[in-house]
Amino acid sequence: KPFQPIELTARLKVGIQNQTLARELEQARRESEHLALTDPLTGLMNRRALLDNLRTDEDRTLRGRQPLSVILADVDRFKSVNDDFGHNTGDRALQVVSDALRAGVRTGDHVGRWGGEEFLMLLPNTDLIQAAEVAERCRTLLTRQQVRCDDGQMMRVSSSFGVASADGVQRPDVMELVNQADKALYWAKEAGRNRVKIYVASADPDYRQTA
Ligand code: GH3
Ligand code: MG
Ligand code: MG
Repeated sequence: KPFQPIELTARLKVGIQNQTLARELEQARRESEHLALTDPLTGLMNRRALLDNLRTDEDRTLRGRQPLSVILADVDRFKSVNDDFGHNTGDRALQVVSDALRAGVRTGDHVGRWGGEEFLMLLPNTDLIQAAEVAERCRTLLTRQQVRCDDGQMMRVSSSFGVASADGVQRPDVMELVNQADKALYWAKEAGRNRVKIYVASADPDYRQTA
């Protein structure tokens, strides 16, 4: 076929440029999606990503009659950490907490920042007892860590944990599971903080049997 070398070169160039542009666009799209789902302070997934994962974990576990557990953690007396040591130290404390939680969970579990000084962990295929063990491991790991203050001093923070679980036979909505974990967390605070409480329906005065 007769062709003009100059035209062919030009066309090839445009083709290559389009490909490069498409790759760059795809990378930018992936980066902005990552940013939209990540908490900048801790690098954990944010609330939005947790909500996505709640739904997918629910699909993968409860619909297949496998258990699903959730753990809600809330840093103890965090307001006084900020008040006594400053907001920077408070931020560093949140990073130390997030590292302890990351270290405490297993592959396949999800950890994210639910908001403020609250963290949510999703544990697919994990029953209540196993989840309580994970929470206890995270709690202990955190008590061994220290947070560096602005003046170089070291301090410690603790967290309370609430655990709730669905066994796959009973399949509550995942947001109901989060509410139950929140109740157990409240019981942990009430009982003196720096501890793990599990949600038990019979201990919940608001629990209504819907069947
Ligand atoms: P409790 O043991 O009952 O949980 O007490 P608390 O002081 O932790 O609870 P409270 O809800 O009164 O205070 C939470 C504090 O967390 C208040 C807010 O200033 C602080 N906080 C929330 N998000 C951040 C953050 O991103 N950085 C810092 N430094 N502080 C934060
Ligand atoms: Mg809180
Ligand atoms: Mg708190």
